[in-house]
Amino acid sequence: MSAALTEEQQALQETAAAYLASHANARASRDGDQALWQGIAELGWTAVIVPEAFGGLGLGLAEAAVLLEESGRQLSRSPLFSSVALAHPLLVRCATDTACQRLLPAMAEGRCTATVIAGPGLSPFVGAGELDIRARRDGDGWVLDGLACQVLDGDTADMALVVARLEDGGMGLFEVAAGLAGVTRSPLEAWDLTRPQAGWQLDGVRLAAEARLDSPGSLDDGLAGALAATALLLAAEQVGGAARCIELTVAYTRERQQFGRPVATFQAVKHRCAQMMVHLESARSALGSALAANSGAALDEIAVARVQAAEAYRFCAAEAIQLHGGVGFTWEYDPQLHFKRAQWGRQWFGTPDAWRAAVADRVLGQTADASEDARHPSAQHAAAPVHAIDEQAFRAEVADWMARHLTGRFEVLRHRGGPGDETAHSELRREWEQVMASGGWIGLGWPRAHGGRELPVSLQVAFHEEYARAGGPGRMGHIGETLLAPTLIDFGTPEQQQRFLPGIREGTAFWCQGYSEPGAGSDLAAIRTRCWLEDGKWHLQGQKVWTSLAHESEWIFVIARSTPGSVGREGLSFLLVPLNQPGVEIRPIRQMTGEAEFNEVFFDDACTAAECIVGAPGDGWKVAMALLGYERGLSTLGQQMHFSHELQLLIDAARARGVDHDPGIRRRIADAWIGLRTLRANALRIFARGEAAVGPEALVYKYAWSN
Ligand SMILES: Cc1cc2nc3c(=O)[nH]c(=O)nc-3n(C[C@H](O)[C@H](O)[C@H](O)COP(=O)(O)OP(=O)(O)OC[C@H]3O[C@@H](n4cnc5c(N)ncnc54)[C@H](O)[C@@H]3O)c2cc1C
Repeated sequence: MSAALTEEQQALQETAAAYLASHANARASRDGDQALWQGIAELGWTAVIVPEAFGGLGLGLAEAAVLLEESGRQLSRSPLFSSVALAHPLLVRCATDTACQRLLPAMAEGRCTATVIAGPGLSPFVGAGELDIRARRDGDGWVLDGLACQVLDGDTADMALVVARLEDGGMGLFEVAAGLAGVTRSPLEAWDLTRPQAGWQLDGVRLAAEARLDSPGSLDDGLAGALAATALLLAAEQVGGAARCIELTVAYTRERQQFGRPVATFQAVKHRCAQMMVHLESARSALGSALAANSGAALDEIAVARVQAAEAYRFCAAEAIQLHGGVGFTWEYDPQLHFKRAQWGRQWFGTPDAWRAAVADRVLGQTADASEDARHPSAQHAAAPVHAIDEQAFRAEVADWMARHLTGRFEVLRHRGGPGDETAHSELRREWEQVMASGGWIGLGWPRAHGGRELPVSLQVAFHEEYARAGGPGRMGHIGETLLAPTLIDFGTPEQQQRFLPGIREGTAFWCQGYSEPGAGSDLAAIRTRCWLEDGKWHLQGQKVWTSLAHESEWIFVIARSTPGSVGREGLSFLLVPLNQPGVEIRPIRQMTGEAEFNEVFFDDACTAAECIVGAPGDGWKVAMALLGYERGLSTLGQQMHFSHELQLLIDAARARGVDHDPGIRRRIADAWIGLRTLRANALRIFARGEAAVGPEALVYKYAWSN
């Protein structure tokens, strides 16, 4: 479910990074590195996904992805991709046990390298009719003819696994050794120098019967899936390449001086680097999600990873060239190598547009002219995501509860109160919070000691998804539940926890967030609202703005300046303030939706009890930032699920208006779907990392969600 690496994967990554950095830096990769392959084999990477029964390590795609990512980072020039990412998955999925027993042990030891010939660009969307090579019967054996124009590592591979078209229109998988009579190889001058290619001409190549490797029906079932697995490993390689582009660019712009300072200090440059990171981290999340799925809905997930990684790599490589200035345009510097590899990768294993088309077929149905063959593996293989049994039971429990409770007078709340609709049925939605509380659905992730259910992240996610699927309304209590409560649990006193957590958990106390001020937006530390202790109480003077749901709340948490004359992050305090008092005035602000979800909040000698401070006086910045960490991670998940419903409405509208066959509409809907899946993958990654930690994926998630 996450992109977090296991300890073994972490160790593999560290070994791979160290080995490739010392043996396969980009400079060596231009000329090839003879010793590299031997080292790779000795390290056991060639055995990674080969099953133990055939002399391999029997690990999964996730481990292979770790290797490919590092190899992509270093632009290493070796048969790693064509063997481990391409040939091995094809054999494992489509060859008979006898064939695997004969071929895979030598491959696992790196003594034999193989590549694959299976139609233009090795696309999972190519049908039997588009294969380059034809096979006909010759006694017990076979004769193969045809020209494959671009074969990966075709100049050095010991053999090709050839998917050929049979006389009856079906497909067969054949082993063709490079040295056989009738095989002519012509090395190509390729655009991506780090990825050698050759043409393979087969003229009447005679093969013995045992050279046919597939079992009946295995290619029909397995070819598209095997090539899709390779597409996923290509995505891993592209993530590594994109990461490297950022590292190179950051290092270069920090060093290069113009206008008397490093160019990295210019905000325009920082923003371009940040945008690279947004692409990279989105792709990384999508990749992690696809690797975790690995079966069931994997082809859907692969589409998301494939599109995001291909786009991220191209974007990062192009930006790397620009941000290196003149030298970025030279032969000697590495960004051009990444750019070429990124361009290469877009053309292979299904272009991003082909994957988008598969997504469009999945969500909109196929176009009238789409053929019924193996063109659209995601449509064929799409299945319900695989979840652990207890998670499925939990999902069923949530769905059942929602069906029984979101009914009667609460029926009108279905799908209401989401983004842009926050003021809908607010009274009834407050009541709904209490119904939720009676079902035990508030505070799912809180510790038991604080009245929560301490559910693992996977079940919290499952809850949000089932809640949204059932049309659960936008939550009125989410600021208290997901922002303040974790903050109180981490920073509050036992008295504060006992006083404030029950109201949140029972759906009776509603909170809002008093951070922004007219003069303190992005520059939050410019806060001017003052607070001071007098007569055993905190007093407040000042103004907050953009305060969501203040008009629906009983309490506000406020960051205010407690040390007179202090500036910036120093001298701030975090207070819990009741809104229903003479010193507080709330004025709604009308939003672009026409509704008023946020407000101005004025404090004119407002008061709160002396003990309603979280942390010590002066700790306000620390507490406020910790709370924002929860916001980046958890509080938005329920809302983002509403976007899925909005997308469904768009899909329904496209169908109703008869524009669901329009290629432009299909692409936009596919991109929206991919964007949502990426958002989800990002969120899952954050949760897996731990609620309080703020990593790059949390920043990227917040950025993508807001946009
Ligand atoms: C729907 C909604 C609900 C909200 N709810 C709450 C709430 O409940 N509680 C609360 O406290 N706040 C809330 N906010 C406020 C939100 O946190 C602020 O809008 C945000 O911090 C930005 O501040 P600002 O609006 O003053 O924009 P400004 O800081 O004025 O920024 C204007 C633009 O300039 C850009 N910018 C500013 N400084 C820089 C810089 N140094 N470099 C580059 N670009 C820069 C910004 O990115 C932005 O695009 C809400 C906002 C919205 C839209």
